[in-house]
Amino acid sequence: METNSFLDLHTHTRYPGKTFIKAQDIEIAAKNGGYSEILAMPNSAKIIDSIENLLEAKRFDEVLDIKVHRTGSLTKGLLGKEPINYKEFIGHGVFIFTDDGLSVVDDALAEEIFKSLKFENGAVFQHCEKSCHTSPGDIAPPNDGGILKPIPVSEETEILERDLNLVEKYGTRYHAQHLSTEESVRLIKEAKMNKLPVTAEVTPHHLLINNTNIETSNGMYKMYPPIRTSRDQLALIEGLKEGTIDVISTDHAPHTIESKQRAFKDAARGVVGLESAFPMLYSSEIFSLDELERYLDKNPRKILSELGYELKKSNSFKWEFCDKKFYTNSNPKNSLFEGRKTLIETNGVHV
Ligand SMILES: [Zn+2]
Repeated sequence: METNSFLDLHTHTRYPGKTFIKAQDIEIAAKNGGYSEILAMPNSAKIIDSIENLLEAKRFDEVLDIKVHRTGSLTKGLLGKEPINYKEFIGHGVFIFTDDGLSVVDDALAEEIFKSLKFENGAVFQHCEKSCHTSPGDIAPPNDGGILKPIPVSEETEILERDLNLVEKYGTRYHAQHLSTEESVRLIKEAKMNKLPVTAEVTPHHLLINNTNIETSNGMYKMYPPIRTSRDQLALIEGLKEGTIDVISTDHAPHTIESKQRAFKDAARGVVGLESAFPMLYSSEIFSLDELERYLDKNPRKILSELGYELKKSNSFKWEFCDKKFYTNSNPKNSLFEGRKTLIETNGVHV
């Protein structure tokens, strides 16, 4: 079977800066998963909040056999206090700004940012998490295990709702990253009905797992946003199918296995996803091939090219049918899907 190569709107490259993986590890994970292009989040070891750091990142990107598109942070040092120089970044072909991993929580600052990015013709990509700078939680209710801090639905929706009001006020291009709740789907649906310039994404793990399947003793399940109820999971699937959510993005987040094998409260947040996304989504049989090509290829390409990014011509990617278990071949292997049944494989990736 052949598909077009995919474009991921949400990858954490970790480089530039001193980090435990190489740029080539991202390239291998992407190519194993059928991706030829990725959008890199700015929370790398060196934060992409200056042109100097952007150019350093690009020097690594340029030698890879995948195309890496860049974003800038919304605020200096991702601290949520002071905007960066958006105009300078746009002059270097970067049109998307995000503090991913954190939110812009301060309302007055958010208003200033939405206003200036409308003026500069840039886009806000927001990770919605109200307590990120003060007291981030551990897990979605009701799986609190006693000592874990719950992450209520409002952690996501309060920021999303505020942002959508700012989009309505200023007309700024807005993209909601990795949504996890039924209420968020409803808010995006309403915004789209009001013709606001809004798109949204969801991760494979929020589509394929719900909190009846998660183990609070296993740090691999620690992530933000948290895996929520089956009702939220169904709303996210429905949101994609009806066109409210546009894209499936991996939120590929490399972490050392040691940092994931800690007690849930102390484990690092996030999982890798580039290599597992298509095999796991396809094998779930929830979506048709046509639908998956829309969420992994056509819609993310449309979003980036409309914002001004120059895309690579997509190539085709070959998959073999199988009936095996999936194992991540690239490094690191902090995946939620190790040992899951897969119906397709790429050369030498699965056993
Ligand atoms: Zn995020």
